[in-house]
Formats: sequence, C-alpha cells, structure tokens
Amino acid sequence: MKPENGQLFIICGPSGCGKGTVIKELLRNEPDIFLSVSATTRAPREGEVDGVHYHFLKTEQFESLIAEEGFLEHACFCGNYYGTPRKPVDTQMANGHPVILEIEVDGAQQVRKLCPDAVTIYILPPSLSELRSRLTGRGTEAPEVVEKRLARAVEEIPFAYTCDYVVTNHIVEETAEALRAIIRSQAFLKKHAACQVDALLSEKELVCER
Ligand code: 5GP
Repeated sequence: MKPENGQLFIICGPSGCGKGTVIKELLRNEPDIFLSVSATTRAPREGEVDGVHYHFLKTEQFESLIAEEGFLEHACFCGNYYGTPRKPVDTQMANGHPVILEIEVDGAQQVRKLCPDAVTIYILPPSLSELRSRLTGRGTEAPEVVEKRLARAVEEIPFAYTCDYVVTNHIVEETAEALRAIIRSQAFLKKHAACQVDALLSEKELVCER
C-alpha cells in the first residue's frame, strides 16, 4: 500500500550527529527511496564526488539558481550556501517514491511551509561531548569550523521539539532501522488508505446479499 504521490521525509540533526552515515545504511536495502542530492558552495571533502555527494557550485552559479527558482529551499550554513534542487524531488515524488531531504533547520522550515505533509525526523547525538569528538575525530574541518558547527548545533537542537520523530544515534544500524520503521509506517496512515477503503466498499453490492 503506497500513497499515490511519494511521501517527503526531512531528516535534520546537528553536523556530526551521523545523519549521512545512517542514511547510507538505510538506503543499502531500500532501492525505492530517493535521496535528494543537494547543491552547495562549500569545497568538496576528500573522497566526495560531484553529483554524488553534492553538486559543488560556485557562488555565482548557486545565486543564479536561486534567481531561477531552481531550489525547493536553500540556506546559508557556517558561511556556505546549501540547497535542494527542486526538479528531481518533484519528479520522484510524482512517481510515487519516498523522498529524503537531509538538510539543516532553516531549509526544513521552508519545506514544511511548502509541504505541510512532510514528515520531519530529528537525529540527536548521544551527547554534546560525543558530538564534539565526532566533529574533531573525522578531521574534515579546521578547528575554528568545528567550533562554529558546535555553536550552530546548540542553536538548532531545540528544533527537535517541533519534529514528528526524534531518534538518538547511538548505533548506526539501530538508528537506520528506526528510520526504516518510521518511513514504512507512513504508508499505513489513514489518509493514504482512503482509496483502499473505497475500493473495498464498492464491492459490497456484488458480495453481500443484504
Ligand atoms: P556538510 O557541510 O556537513 O555536508 O553539511 C552541513 C549542513 O548542511 C548539514 O546540517 C546538512 O544537513 C545541511 N545540508 C546539506 N544539504 C542541504 C540542503 O540542500 N539544504 C539545507 N538547507 N541544508 C543542507
């Protein structure tokens, strides 16, 4: 049982909480789910591939896409632009695929206004000290950027209060399993089941004698 239009899932969580790793684990066995590839003006990290991890754009390119309304949402995060290209999301949803956006909270608020049915999931780190060690340990950011990201984490964590689901990421596989359960359960919401109920009741003249 799947909704005619794909469901939109917004996954938020502070930088370093492990969202990317959890989503990768979730998608290993879920070919039907589409993960939106964002655009950003930040420099690629070692191993990141243009068009796979992000579309890496120059600021001018990003700004012309904003002007052309090419983004579903966009925001500035620690000095760089990030945005969700609109077209692939529209296409995948129209084809009935669940779509995941892995975005920060300003963008999440914009999407919630446009798509009030979007399901929001917030991923928490086990603790702030654990978050600091993860941000430092991955070695991808300079120390001053780590501090900026930590400060931003403290600002954005209260957004969790407004989300539909909150999951603490202790163990990647378990967190991915929790996300899978949340995503699967949406198909059984009453609002998506109305056509099944209608179809069943339309048989009553054929099947019931009275
Ligand atoms: P990072 O630089 O660590 O890849 O991402 C920094 C932050 O930007 C993360 O919180 C990530 O979820 C968020 N982000 C990634 N893509 C997008 C996007 O398309 N839009 C918005 N608003 N945030 C994004």
